[in-house]
Amino acid sequence: MFTYIDPSVRERLIDAGKLLRIDSNGQLLSADAETGGGSISILGPIPLPLAFGDQHYDVQWYACVRNTELTKIEEIAEHLRAEKAQESFANLATSMAVNSVLIIGDPEKWTDPLVRVHSSCLTGDVFGSERCECGPQLHSAVELIDADAQGGIVVYMSGHEGRGIGLWAKAATYLLQDGGENTYEANRSLGLPDDSRDFSDAATLLKFFRGAGPFRLLTNNPKKIADLKEAGLNEVSPVKHVFGVTDSNKRYLAAKRDWGHELDDDDIK
Ligand SMILES: [Zn+2]
Repeated sequence: MFTYIDPSVRERLIDAGKLLRIDSNGQLLSADAETGGGSISILGPIPLPLAFGDQHYDVQWYACVRNTELTKIEEIAEHLRAEKAQESFANLATSMAVNSVLIIGDPEKWTDPLVRVHSSCLTGDVFGSERCECGPQLHSAVELIDADAQGGIVVYMSGHEGRGIGLWAKAATYLLQDGGENTYEANRSLGLPDDSRDFSDAATLLKFFRGAGPFRLLTNNPKKIADLKEAGLNEVSPVKHVFGVTDSNKRYLAAKRDWGHELDDDDIK
């Protein structure tokens, strides 16, 4: 995490326009402006060639972190530098939620771009687990946005593992589900909310990268639409996004449907 190992690198990136800060309304902040609550630092664009199967996609990656989190880390880094405790820097990176934005296609052409706000899922996105449909949903989103005449955005929310309860608790819910509980009942058994995801950072990032105006959102989740509208993104229209249905996740998808997701019986046949 070089931006807080050597502050001169940070200055260089700011000068190059590759390290930006935006306020909670998605407005660009000047380099010397105070950062308020909900403000975000953004590193990028970083060209990222992607390959899923035999398909290749060229996207621009932006790494995004809340300034409240970054400031804390930078204060600790300052201290470690003074103490010459270089070996402790590795500990800094572990707790920070770094979200990602992938820009696909040319933003100049956007009048109604296609957007996916994707919650991180290690087991689905990385390992290819079929207990959920996250991996195919993510890959299909990139494929659909790339094929779309306007292109669009993937916002990848790294702190949303297990609908916001984290990977350790999600592992526990899997064991409870294997004992007969559904995905929501298992959360409740642990004393956790059904869905604790906060979409305010995603809304801030969309305000910055999309700006004002309509966009289409690949989702079956009415709560996601409601939360983004609540954050001021009123011109969002849902586009159904059903991929990766297998025998292993039909029960999970049926629980999501019963909870309110826009899924028909035909979708999970
Ligand atoms: Zn998943």
